[in-house]
Amino acid sequence: MEKNNISHIELGKHMDIFTKLPEVGQGLVLWKPHGAMLRYLLEKFSQEAHILNGYQWVYTPHIGKSNLWETSGHLDYYKDSMYNPIEIDGEEYYLKPMSCPFHVLIYKDGIKSYRDLPIRYAEYASVYRYELSGVLHGLTRVRGFTQDDAHIIAAPEQIEEEIFRALIFSLYILKKFNFTKYKAYIATRNSAKSIGSPADWEKAESQLKQAVIKAGLEYEIDEGGGAFYGPKIDLKLTDNSGREWQCSTIQFDFNLPERFQMFYIGQDGQKHTPMMVHRALFGSIERFTAMLLEHFNGEFPFWLSPVQARILTVSNEQKKFAESVYNRLKKEGYRIEFDTSDEPLGAKIRNAEISKIPVTIIIGTKEQQASSVTVRTRQDKKQQFLTLDALFRMLEQEQSIGKAEYIHTDL
Ligand SMILES: [Zn+2]
Repeated sequence: MEKNNISHIELGKHMDIFTKLPEVGQGLVLWKPHGAMLRYLLEKFSQEAHILNGYQWVYTPHIGKSNLWETSGHLDYYKDSMYNPIEIDGEEYYLKPMSCPFHVLIYKDGIKSYRDLPIRYAEYASVYRYELSGVLHGLTRVRGFTQDDAHIIAAPEQIEEEIFRALIFSLYILKKFNFTKYKAYIATRNSAKSIGSPADWEKAESQLKQAVIKAGLEYEIDEGGGAFYGPKIDLKLTDNSGREWQCSTIQFDFNLPERFQMFYIGQDGQKHTPMMVHRALFGSIERFTAMLLEHFNGEFPFWLSPVQARILTVSNEQKKFAESVYNRLKKEGYRIEFDTSDEPLGAKIRNAEISKIPVTIIIGTKEQQASSVTVRTRQDKKQQFLTLDALFRMLEQEQSIGKAEYIHTDL
């Protein structure tokens, strides 16, 4: 892949991915159809991967009563990043900056035993956080974004394994999108802005380090960069201007379970307090999309392309046959365009290239007579003459790269 320095903002504009308009509000994103398709594909892949790998999907509201955020500690430690409350029926509600309290309450709805653990709740959670207007930037720093958020609730003896599994899952996700360069950080306690005892923090930090070492990663320490409820592992990706952005994050939490009085019935028949891991693997879907745009320079792999193929005819005489190919591909679920313009073939091929479409399907007299097509792929500009069956086999193979898999953690 050729190196480039085009920012995701420019690529996003050129490829019709997103827009931000002053009349909507600062830091709020409008996803346009190509961007929304890309996001749908990201979400679909990731949701399937989560369900295959032992997560249960949940949905929770965008707002919640102030008492939730008091109990969680957000109003004491995170208020500067939250929007002002909304008053409804004499009660205060806050737009959620995180989803933790909701997942905790789903856990608490019904008694859990050690046999139920670990429990892994996942959701695409749209959250709102106040950021100074001066730092807002494209899709990387916004005020409303969606996290691929999950909370893992486990018995203390399971927590190390769960952190490791979350880390391996995270590496799997990054690899699926061809990210091979990232940096791991262990973010530690900020004594002014944290809850829990220093001894618990130290223990948790050392467990995070163990997981990172076991996964074969090198790490740096981000002194004082932990969440207010516990230390975390952050995986950071670098954008085209050399700036690092936190994407995946795996956060250890030994505080919220206590504050929300979560418990499970142990083998001894007694109540025990579980531990919790907060984790997001894309991090913010907005930010991850920005990283993807820059990483691929907009040239997404076939399975991830908003438009996967474009059909071009040499002349109008092949229109009918081309339409039948288009309809067959459409029915199989491929995202296909049909260039019906009167431009010469060379211009149509160039237009498909400029639009970064992975596969161009060319149909002329020869192809029509043989019920075949000529295929040109973006990476490999040479042309191949293929029967329709061979075309379908080729596309199916490319499509299958985006399939979610079960992840074995025994490395
Ligand atoms: Zn959380």
